Formats: sequence, structure tokens, C-alpha cells
Amino acid sequence: MDYSAIIVGGGPAGISTWLHLQKYAPQLAESSIVIEKAIFPRDKLCGGGVCIWATDVLTKLKVDVLTSLKVDNNVPSLSVSDLEFRFGKEIDRLHQPNYFRFVKRQDFDHALAKAAVNRGLELHEDEMIIDLFRTQNNLMVTTNKGKYTVQVLVGGDGALSTVRKKMMPFQKRHLAPTFQLIAPSDPDYDSEFNKRKTVVDLTPIKEGLQGYVWHVPCSNGKTDSIAHGIVDFRVWPDRPRPDMKKIFIRELRKRNIHQDPKTWSSHPIPWYSEDDILSQPNVILVGDAAGIEPAFGGGIHLSLAYGEVAAQSIIDAFRTGDFSFQDYTQRIQSHQVGQHISKCTRIARAMYGGKMNPLDGAREVFAPEPDSSTMMRELLSRYLELHPQSSSDPE
Ligand SMILES: Cc1cc2nc3c(=O)[nH]c(=O)nc-3n(C[C@H](O)[C@H](O)[C@H](O)COP(=O)(O)OP(=O)(O)OC[C@H]3O[C@@H](n4cnc5c(N)ncnc54)[C@H](O)[C@@H]3O)c2cc1C
Repeated sequence: MDYSAIIVGGGPAGISTWLHLQKYAPQLAESSIVIEKAIFPRDKLCGGGVCIWATDVLTKLKVDVLTSLKVDNNVPSLSVSDLEFRFGKEIDRLHQPNYFRFVKRQDFDHALAKAAVNRGLELHEDEMIIDLFRTQNNLMVTTNKGKYTVQVLVGGDGALSTVRKKMMPFQKRHLAPTFQLIAPSDPDYDSEFNKRKTVVDLTPIKEGLQGYVWHVPCSNGKTDSIAHGIVDFRVWPDRPRPDMKKIFIRELRKRNIHQDPKTWSSHPIPWYSEDDILSQPNVILVGDAAGIEPAFGGGIHLSLAYGEVAAQSIIDAFRTGDFSFQDYTQRIQSHQVGQHISKCTRIARAMYGGKMNPLDGAREVFAPEPDSSTMMRELLSRYLELHPQSSSDPE
């Protein structure tokens, strides 16, 4: 069977790619499908923090999954306005209304996929890529359910992407190990749920961790819980590797959690580095398959935003007949996605390399961009400082 594009993976990156295709080129979207190896609702290890950038992308797509999650009421999203960053005894706090909405990824991704299906997406669940090979102008895609000929293949198949492995030249990936467990919130030890705040503890950098420990509130609708996690980005791969498990056990004990490490979950966070290859003729990568940022590992917003660049690239390929995707990496790098990853990479190298106070790094990444009215007020007050006579009433 022939399709214009096959998108592999029904996570935020894959679904966003299709939704953007549908927004800008509905006919192309009609002849494109998403193949997903799982059946929704499927699980995905994640802190579930959906930031304002992600909600902006969804709003522009007119996809209201967060509201419908709330209205459904069986899968509430928790709104968090306070972020607390710790580094030893130093603490920095940021406040912005609804900075994050914490969701169960299982429900968020399901709602996103349903929104796309309601707009006409042909979603093939329980179908996975088995083999891929190139013919003269197209690709032959073999799955457990059939064979397809396509002009464009989008790898949105996550951190351990098969599309990347099969279609890109071999490159060692930057995979940050993580551990996460969810425990009931204990008000004697955990203030995050009641205060609706997120804690990012960067103190273990002092022991060589190139990452942090997080404590974020979450809920399954019945139990108030906290997701506790740890990540080591290894942006300085040659430096000694700390014992991540030991650090995490110690941090959990401080909160009276003594669960067997065998009950923890683990999944790598893949980060992008500027020499990574993101395209080949007829093939592009999005989301985790391409790579996210190595300072804090936020990826839902980036994956949603990758989808827009991918869709524009696919549309241009069909318009010009050029399916080389030679400029795809350049498009990513000059888009807000690439610029954000590049800024976070610089910050990660500095703070995990001992050249920057991690609290300054966190502030640079998370402090809300001032809006234009705030900037105007600041400019005006600076002008009045320099020209005090202008503020006096001329009358
Ligand atoms: C522990 C942890 C905590 C995190 N916390 C946060 C957070 O709080 N906030 C945040 O913004 N980001 C967070 N992230 C990052 C975020 O989870 C990812 O960046 C995001 O899920 C990437 O979306 P994606 O669509 O690229 O990939 P995924 O969400 O992984 O989706 C890929 C999809 O492809 C499917 N697939 C895989 N192989 C095949 C195949 N061969 N054929 C067909 N389908 C296939 C999978 O089943 C899956 O549905 C966290 C990550 C980890 C590991």
C-alpha cells in the first residue's frame, strides 16, 4: 500500500507531526498514517510535567487535551506554579501561575492520539516496524502487519528509535540514565503535593552527578503521590561516574522511602548534540528519536515543537519534489527547538562542569521570559532614572 508519509511512534512527537501536517496540508495528512507498536492507553516513564511552551503549541493546534483531561475528572492534571531549586544550603524559588501541569503520560498521550484520530488520523496501533529498505525513490517499510511504500518516513519512535538505528549512519547516542519511582505523598516528609510545588535538588552535583534529583506531585485521581527521580546527563562523559543508585537510595531514605531498587523504573533520556545526524533522504527524526536537551531533560514541549518543523519540511519536500531533507538539521537548529537545546547544552556544560552556580543555570532555563509590557516598564523606569526631570510634571 502507498502512503505519502508514515510516522513511526504515537507519542507527542509523532502525533504532533501529524497534527501539524493536518493543520497546514490536510490532503497530505489524509495520505499519511501513524504506526504505534503499543495499544493506547500505553505507559511511558516520565515525570509528566507539561510546561507552558507545550500548552502554547497545543493551543495553536486548537487541541484542548489538558482541559478535557480535567473535565473528564478521572485523569486530573495538577497545576503547579512554584519551582524550588536546591544546591546545598542555597535555595532559589520561581513562581509563575500554572508553570507546569502534571499529567499521567498514559492519559495525556492517549488524549492527544484521540484528538488526532478525531481529525481523521489513520492510527495503526499494535503495529511495529520490522524492516526498512530504500528503493530508487521511495522506502519500503515492513511491519508485523504489512508492507508499505512511502516517500517520507518520520522516526518518532522514542529514545531507542528503530528508525534511527536502521536508517541513520551509526553514531554513539547520548543517553542519560534515570531512575524514577512513585510513592504516596507523606505530609511529614513531602511538602510538594500540598504546596503544589516541584523540587529540583542539584546538590548531588557536588558528588559528581551531572544531573539532579526531582520530587514532583502527581495523582492517579485517588492517591496523592510524589514522583521521585534522578538523572545523570554525562555531558562530561570522561569525568568519574558517581554511584547514582547510592545517591538515590540516600535521598529516598531522607523521605522515609525504603522501596527495593528492583521496584524502580528506568528509561534513558536521549539528548541532542550538534553533530547528530537527524535526516537522510526520505527520512527525518523527531522528539526523543532526534534528542532533547541535557540540562533538565524536559522533552514533551520539545517533542511537540519538533512536530511543527518536521511537518513544514515534509510539506516543502512534496512542494519541491526534493526529498533529500538536506536542510532538516539546519531547520531544527534555527527553530526555537534547536535554539533552546543549544542554550540548555551551554548551561549544562557550565553547571555540570563546575563553571556556573547550578541555581543560576536553573534560573536561566526556567525564569519566565519577560513579556513586552514588562520590558517596556523596565525600559521606562531605566530612562526615568537617567532623565529624572522627565518624570516631573511640566505644568
Ligand atoms: C524518567 C523521565 C522523566 C521525564 N520527565 C519529563 C517531564 O517531567 N517533562 C517533560 O517535558 N519531559 C520529561 N521527560 C522526557 C519525555 O518523556 C520525552 O522527551 C517525550 O516522551 C518524548 O516524546 P516522543 O514522542 O519523542 O517519544 P515517546 O513518548 O517515547 O513515544 C515514542 C512512541 O514510539 C513507539 N514506538 C517505539 N518503537 C516503535 C516501533 N518500532 N514501531 C512503532 N512504534 C514504536 C512507542 O511505543 C511510543 O509510543 C522525561 C523522561 C524520562 C525518562
